[in-house]
Amino acid sequence: MREFQEKLHRDTNIVRGAEYFEPLTGALAAPIYQSASFRHPGLGESTGFDYSRVCNPTRSIVEKTLALLEHGKYALAFATGMGAISAMVKIFMPGDHIIISDDLYGGTYRLFHDYYARYGFLFSFVDTSDFSKIEAAARPETKAIFIETPSNPMMKVSDIQRCAEFIHKRGGVLVSDNTFCTPYFQNPLDLGADFVIHSGTKYLAGHNDTLSGFIVHSNETHREKLLDIQKSEGAALSPFDAFLTLRGLKTLALRMEKHQANAAQVAQWLRAQRHVEKVFYTGLSDHPQYALSKKQARGHNGMISFYFKDEADVAKLLKNVKLILFAESLGGVESLVTYPLVQTHSAIPEAIRLSTGVNERLVRLSIGIENPDDLIADLAQAMGA
Ligand SMILES: *Cc1c(COP(=O)(O)O)cnc(C)c1O
Repeated sequence: MREFQEKLHRDTNIVRGAEYFEPLTGALAAPIYQSASFRHPGLGESTGFDYSRVCNPTRSIVEKTLALLEHGKYALAFATGMGAISAMVKIFMPGDHIIISDDLYGGTYRLFHDYYARYGFLFSFVDTSDFSKIEAAARPETKAIFIETPSNPMMKVSDIQRCAEFIHKRGGVLVSDNTFCTPYFQNPLDLGADFVIHSGTKYLAGHNDTLSGFIVHSNETHREKLLDIQKSEGAALSPFDAFLTLRGLKTLALRMEKHQANAAQVAQWLRAQRHVEKVFYTGLSDHPQYALSKKQARGHNGMISFYFKDEADVAKLLKNVKLILFAESLGGVESLVTYPLVQTHSAIPEAIRLSTGVNERLVRLSIGIENPDDLIADLAQAMGA
């Protein structure tokens, strides 16, 4: 089946997933196997399913689908993106050093800095879009590079292939958080990354109605260990949330095209506004890593950040938006506006935050799939443009 599917187009695999119907009943939609446990036919016999923390049929379908879409052999589904990242770190040992993007999801920073660092894992937070910073941070005990590309919220792009070649020469692995691009636009494993991370909560599920997280890989060395971590930690994805993620995923290709088209219009409009100082969007041709984006990704997402000239405009915008919702998260069909300083990035110390550019004038937009004219009109009235 997988061999057949690998020859199909990306948008076909997105809508159809890894399993086209359930063999038992022929059901087209993935059945929600809401069972904690599974009966054994006899001693030493199993249906392949024993206990849902370890393995569940609905979860298996979404795992196979993510493996197919990200061109990996294996995928593991977790309750959240943070659950996936937390499991990922556990393949390393105290004393191992990891180079990690300094501009990244605030929760990832908090997990590494406030928790894993306490257990003796070593981290260097550097601007991974600047390759010389990676070289300078590498040590003999460096075991991994962890990148988010494009990064959150500054939209910096790191060179996946170059990072992979560099860390492989040193015997380490590259972990790439592909939440922003999704497999529709970018496949880090094809560029040499060893592990892909997803917050399925965002574009993959896409409807702001569930949370999920994934690790996708083809790494035989860590395969058993990762399964054991998933089983032992107990943060595996529930059957219902696996269903919702699969349900949302079907329209990913359509949604990403619309997110991209809408965001391109909004970014162009924002750039021309007198209250706006600077716009960060990977689809703008003067984005510092525009050429690299074109090389390693097939498109851009719906994520835009921008600086107001005046801090006072932030509160005004957040209070006055009517259609765009002032809420955390991203990647859903609804457009959201976030203030990274106090929301997604509040866990990051001021010095690091300011050095990466997350200041009091920065606003982040997750552009949804509404009509772009309505989104622009809403921004215009809220900004007093
Ligand atoms: C949201 C997010 C996460 C965390 O995912 P959750 O599903 O919220 O736990 C990790 N990485 C990126 C890039 C994210 O945007």
